[in-house]
Amino acid sequence: MRGTVLYGPRDIRFEERAEPKIMNPTDAIIRMAATCVCGSDLWPYRGIQAIAQPTPMGHEYCGIVEEVGSVVKSIKPGQFVIGSFFASDNTCPHCHAGYQTSCQHKEFVGGAQAPLLRVPLADGTLVAAPGVPPDDLLPSILACSDVLGTGWFAAAAANVNPDATVVVVGDGAVGLMGVLSAKQMGAGRIVAMSRHPTRQKLALEFGATHIVTERGDEGVDRIKQLSNGVGADSVLECVGTEESMMQAIHCTRPGGSVGYVGVPHGVELDGQELFYTHVHLHGGPAPVRQYLPKLINLVWERKINPGKVFDLTLPLD
Ligand SMILES: [Zn+2]
Repeated sequence: MRGTVLYGPRDIRFEERAEPKIMNPTDAIIRMAATCVCGSDLWPYRGIQAIAQPTPMGHEYCGIVEEVGSVVKSIKPGQFVIGSFFASDNTCPHCHAGYQTSCQHKEFVGGAQAPLLRVPLADGTLVAAPGVPPDDLLPSILACSDVLGTGWFAAAAANVNPDATVVVVGDGAVGLMGVLSAKQMGAGRIVAMSRHPTRQKLALEFGATHIVTERGDEGVDRIKQLSNGVGADSVLECVGTEESMMQAIHCTRPGGSVGYVGVPHGVELDGQELFYTHVHLHGGPAPVRQYLPKLINLVWERKINPGKVFDLTLPLD
């Protein structure tokens, strides 16, 4: 089969790779229906994150189960399944606490930009959809695999609730999914910090009530103005840079919460400054598995349309 492999900065090749095989009795092999590019792929693609060797790309996936290992019980060939970027057993204490991305047996799932993918710990990792989705639902089903689940975790970690003033820092796909998630959680006031007209439009469609284009201190001033000088209750940090993290912390009211899901690159926080902000910080790799059944259901019932974040569809080659 042929799949994508990253060799170095801006050097992605589409080349022959060995077809994955069942290696452990807990594995499944799935035939990809759709895959995509993650914001976190852009760090190594741009050379900001070094890679040690040519690396098969892609960790967002959904498709039909071809084969399962001998001890896999709940997942069966022919099912349409969605999984996420870390395989998890869904039985250990961390999984039970809802942190499947810290599973004691977690394994990264990579190489999804190919026709076939091996998924470890299939029973714990994969969730079956009610059936094979019609083509128009496929983008939204694929979005559940990472970007939607990550935006959802950002909102949950930021303690979004119906009374909260919510600010979303970052207007990429994850930030937009954060807006959608905050709306689903009932937030009445959602501020998207965005400078791109097309993304502002989508943010408004997903539930944003305000757009703030200013950044840094000016951005903080605008958030204060919008919240009677108080600051936001819930802030979703969806970028991963020092600037975006500080933007998020400074926009948050004392006692408020920052949910951060941008993979940090060069972020260093000053202990004393953090101490005096009185801000809760909760983030990390999103435990998408926790949310998959709910998110798949919302998409299946056409209550949300997260697939709109995809703006380009291409054949794999
Ligand atoms: Zn676990």
